[in-house]
Amino acid sequence: MKTTAAVLVELGKPLEIVDLEIPTLKPGQILVEITWSGMCHTQLLEVRGHRGADPFLPHCLGHEGSGKVLEIAPGHTGKLAVDDSVVLSWLKGSGANVMGSVYEWHHFTGKRNVNAGAITTFMTHAIISENRLTKIPKGVSMKQAVMLGCALPTGVGAVINTAKPQPGQSLVVFGCGGVGLNAIMGAVVSGCAPVIAVDINPEKLAIAKELGATHTINPLNDDVMEAIKALTDGGADFAIEATGIPSIMQQALQVVRPQGGKAVIIGNAHKGQDVTIDPGMFNSGRSMLGTWGGDSVPDRDYPLYGRLIAHKRLDADKLFSSPYSLAQINQALDDLEAGSVCRPLIDLSL
Ligand SMILES: [Zn+2]
Repeated sequence: MKTTAAVLVELGKPLEIVDLEIPTLKPGQILVEITWSGMCHTQLLEVRGHRGADPFLPHCLGHEGSGKVLEIAPGHTGKLAVDDSVVLSWLKGSGANVMGSVYEWHHFTGKRNVNAGAITTFMTHAIISENRLTKIPKGVSMKQAVMLGCALPTGVGAVINTAKPQPGQSLVVFGCGGVGLNAIMGAVVSGCAPVIAVDINPEKLAIAKELGATHTINPLNDDVMEAIKALTDGGADFAIEATGIPSIMQQALQVVRPQGGKAVIIGNAHKGQDVTIDPGMFNSGRSMLGTWGGDSVPDRDYPLYGRLIAHKRLDADKLFSSPYSLAQINQALDDLEAGSVCRPLIDLSL
């Protein structure tokens, strides 16, 4: 059986759309027909070579999506059955943890091996490790379920699980891409006030407002520090950084209040970049926290996030671009890089 996949052959070059032979499943692996895939900055960094040397080339990509279970190898826990609709997520849940697969590419120069991790989604069919799959919660569409793969658990989770605000506490989000906008929604469902969105893109700020941000700040027009101080009586309770830019990570720490303010860093910086921090920030009682996918646990949290989507407390539709086909995937990467879309969505049926 074959799959059509977008393969990274060389760093800094466009992805190549090729047909690959699907290998026999290893114990604990599941073959999924992918319906939708999302795209996040992690893949952009990978493709552009900003994550450093890549020993796995050529390889498949993608770590959030939705699809249908086609085949299950022995050695699984029984949590899924053939025909189940599933979320594909890079975050590890319950079940077998199986390393990647090697697909075969009948290249004009001869057979070539193409590597794939435990989860990949930029392809029509993929072999996925059981623990990267979760049944789609009731009331959530296949399209909405894509967001559960990465952006939503990371952004909403960074607020609910990592920052843990009380109702009425103030929260600032730096960067209104897919993850940042989910953090805005996480702040709104947590009852934060004010919820302040910071971005240089007015269209993204407009979406942040629609999703419940009480205030928006555009650093191209306003002094960010002064504006946040004025809105939060001297400093925010929480700042969520979702830009991947080291100077913004620094700023996220500076805008939280002394004696208890917390900055949560989500963004992935380019390999080799550093953050400079004035130690006085820590002496004043401010903290900087990291997060692993919003500290979300798929089996525990996806049913809860699903309920919030089903009852329209979280909007999983507004962030998506109009769908790209797999053949248009390089356009999707360019648009994500240019900031003209929040979350590119790939329709594998196109
Ligand atoms: Zn991601």
